[in-house]
Amino acid sequence: MQWHMLTSNDVAKETNTNIAKGLTTDEAKKRLKRFGYNELKEAKKQSALRLFLGQFKDFMVLVLLIATVISGLLGEYVDAIAIIVIVIMNAFLGFFQERRAEKSLEALKQLSAPQAMVLRDGEWVKVRSQELVVGDVVKFSSGDRIGADVRLIDAKGLEIEESALTGESVPTAKSAVPLANEHAAIGDLHNMAFMGTLVTRGSGVGIVIATGMKTAMGQIANLLQEADTVMTPLQRKLEQLGKILIVVALLLTVLVVGIGVIQGHDIYEMFLAGVSLAVAAIPEGLPAIVTIALALGVQRMIKKNAIVRKLPAVETLGCASVICSDKTGTMTENMMTVTHIWASGRNWTVSGTGLELAGQFYENGRTIDTKKETSLQQLLTFGAVCNNSQIKEKGKRRYIEGDPTEGALLVAAMKAGLTKERVESEFIIEQEFPFDSERKMMTVIVKDGAGRRFIVTKGAPDVLLQVSGHIWWNGREQMMTMAWRKTVQDVIHTMANQALRTIAIAYRPLRAHERIASEKEAEKELIFLGIQGMIDPPRPEVKKAVQQCKEAGIKTVMVTGDHVLTAKAIARQLGVLPNSGKVMDGQTLARLSIDELEQVVDDIYVFARVSPEHKLKIVKAFQRRGHIVAMTGDGVNDAPAIKAADIGVAMGQSGTDVAKEAASLILLDDNFATIQAAIQEGRNIYENIRKFIRYLLASNVGEILVMLFAMLLALPLPLVPIQILWVNLVTDGLPAMALGLDQAEENVMKRKPRHPKEGVFARGLGWKIVSRGFIIGIVTLAAFMTVYERGENNLVYAQTVAFATLVMAQLIHVFDCRCERSIFDRNPFGNLYLVGAVLLSVLLLLVVIYYPPLQGIFHTVPIILLDWVLIVGLAALPTFLFAGSFFTRK
Ligand code: ADP
Ligand code: MG
Repeated sequence: MQWHMLTSNDVAKETNTNIAKGLTTDEAKKRLKRFGYNELKEAKKQSALRLFLGQFKDFMVLVLLIATVISGLLGEYVDAIAIIVIVIMNAFLGFFQERRAEKSLEALKQLSAPQAMVLRDGEWVKVRSQELVVGDVVKFSSGDRIGADVRLIDAKGLEIEESALTGESVPTAKSAVPLANEHAAIGDLHNMAFMGTLVTRGSGVGIVIATGMKTAMGQIANLLQEADTVMTPLQRKLEQLGKILIVVALLLTVLVVGIGVIQGHDIYEMFLAGVSLAVAAIPEGLPAIVTIALALGVQRMIKKNAIVRKLPAVETLGCASVICSDKTGTMTENMMTVTHIWASGRNWTVSGTGLELAGQFYENGRTIDTKKETSLQQLLTFGAVCNNSQIKEKGKRRYIEGDPTEGALLVAAMKAGLTKERVESEFIIEQEFPFDSERKMMTVIVKDGAGRRFIVTKGAPDVLLQVSGHIWWNGREQMMTMAWRKTVQDVIHTMANQALRTIAIAYRPLRAHERIASEKEAEKELIFLGIQGMIDPPRPEVKKAVQQCKEAGIKTVMVTGDHVLTAKAIARQLGVLPNSGKVMDGQTLARLSIDELEQVVDDIYVFARVSPEHKLKIVKAFQRRGHIVAMTGDGVNDAPAIKAADIGVAMGQSGTDVAKEAASLILLDDNFATIQAAIQEGRNIYENIRKFIRYLLASNVGEILVMLFAMLLALPLPLVPIQILWVNLVTDGLPAMALGLDQAEENVMKRKPRHPKEGVFARGLGWKIVSRGFIIGIVTLAAFMTVYERGENNLVYAQTVAFATLVMAQLIHVFDCRCERSIFDRNPFGNLYLVGAVLLSVLLLLVVIYYPPLQGIFHTVPIILLDWVLIVGLAALPTFLFAGSFFTRK
């Protein structure tokens, strides 16, 4: 089908759709069922079986399996089968852990899946791009990624970057006009937009003509990007650490086996014990548990409205020392209401809050009749004309479709009886130059009922003042003299000082056939009409969040396109700007070199009237000062800064696809407080990972040392292989996972941010692991010797007691791991998962010791009650010995 040659109406006919109303929801559902989801086929996922078998890849597990087979051949059936069962259970545990980790990552991807605006039943709704079907009428604007192949039926200054398809990185200008060329190449199809390409400017509407694998993108199969799973820095460090630990564990094992053999132990027995010990001592579960802890933490973040797009960000979050945040909508409500208006030297105030339409205009405290005030009428009318938004009602709820700033202008106009419909029937829009935060203006070219044409511009008052040559004053155009400029500037300052966001409106009549090619030509020599000032209340929760960040050693910086004084006033209200803090404006920022900025940046708390391009410079300057920077953004132009930041943050609601794709964190509610919550969670996740690393490694140290010491003292084996494997599976596995679910300590947000280069064992963790592990080994050996010395033929009983002591020592020590200081600094039983995991482990221990059928398998005999006193007493020693602060090095 030559879509590009058809007229819009023919395209609609061919795809069986209605340009004004779109498809019905029913029809869309039918088509979705018939033609399938709009998605590109992904590379095959790893099958469950492969994942399960992958668990046996581990070298030591293979050695263990071979050793078991040998012992089976030698007639030790019970041992062989028991070991194999445990190895398989271990594989299952690893399998489920990895599966779970994978699933949660998958779910994450779904959450940040792209969306599209589509016309269904005559209403614009947001759906997942996946659900687009042929015939859907879709619209998009700057920053969106096109969801399917689309024939354009309307384009306003639309430019699309199609490098994914054409390799050409310069954006192509698009229009809706049919083309004549039959054999046009993709790059020349100027009235089409393709799946996966990027809107860099303007806006457009189109009809979907192909979805899924039928799109141009779908046909280039080799372009399918495979989802790369990036490891976090910590995971990478742990992988390296794992390799070292394997070598250390193997060396120690060889040492244990060697000494054992020299001391006269049976070679075969020592070999099996050695291999079991190696399997137990190598923390093979660590990477999976780390992934789970990260993934679970990420899920907790989702509950707090923060979506992590890149796993490494979870760790980086905990290191953040500067947050650069947008003001409008992130620190403020983005619920704007016009309250002050100035035009032609007169001041009016407007009553009514939010989207209430009942409001009055006052001058000097007295209500006025708006119909008699021509300059006010003109200002309000043009505010509604140069406006892309709409006020809509759904049931009883009124809402703004579009930009809240524009919504406020509409509401103000409605309060004077000027509805958008009325205004639109009077002015026909011929051309539009959309708002962008670089220019800080928006312009339309309109024709009124009498055939007169105007340029109407609205935008930041200081910017508009610069491009205005005249001012409207007492019903007349007057030259914009220095005195007038001063007057207008005073008005801007007065409004901004009251924390008002200001929008000015200006216009210029056009001759009948005068053509305007660019915004540059339009936005000059204007006639300044007046200013509307609107309040945008701070979000109530932000003040507290800023305060908490401060306590956590994190600096909050406001970055906004808004006026310096407006920004300053709101920054003061929110506690962002301390008395000694400085404010910098965009012009100064543009002038400074990066070196100069670096010198002063630590004193600056507010950047105002900045353009998105400046954000990159701000990020870099802070980074040069050694900071870990979080930077928020929503537009296309914010993407470079978001990417360059250590933690790029995009807005979930107002953010464009480009910003979201560049970001590592997405705020579903666009709320500053959510960043603070995510940082808190990030810190907590890292602490939890430290907790179970500490637990697992201390346990392993204990296990190896008890065997090593016994061999050195020429004692029999204190633990048999199957017991060692049991400890590795049950005692190490469950509680470690529960530690990963631990709640934050109260003081996580009272410390300085962690240094990003800090090692895993920093802040005394290494010492804790070695010292606690050492004592666990000693007490286990002590229990063994005490009982063993009682008499002949006592070995199995002594081994059972050693086994119980080792398990109990670990299960008590695990509570100690919850807190980096002393066990008494925190309610040890605060984590119910942990209490549950420990109780279950104790129960399983008792089963293994007292349930006769298992006694044969685990080489156990029942322990008498009195010996439990010995066991628990010794097992508690490692924890309570260090409970005081004496050994707890900070
Ligand atoms: P921020 O989002 O940080 O408040 P913006 O870049 O959105 O900054 O806005 C900068 C300035 O541009 C505002 O102070 C306002 O004067 C003006 N402005 C904002 N939105 C619009 C719009 N839709 N049309 C015209 N001017 C606007
Ligand atoms: Mg904005």
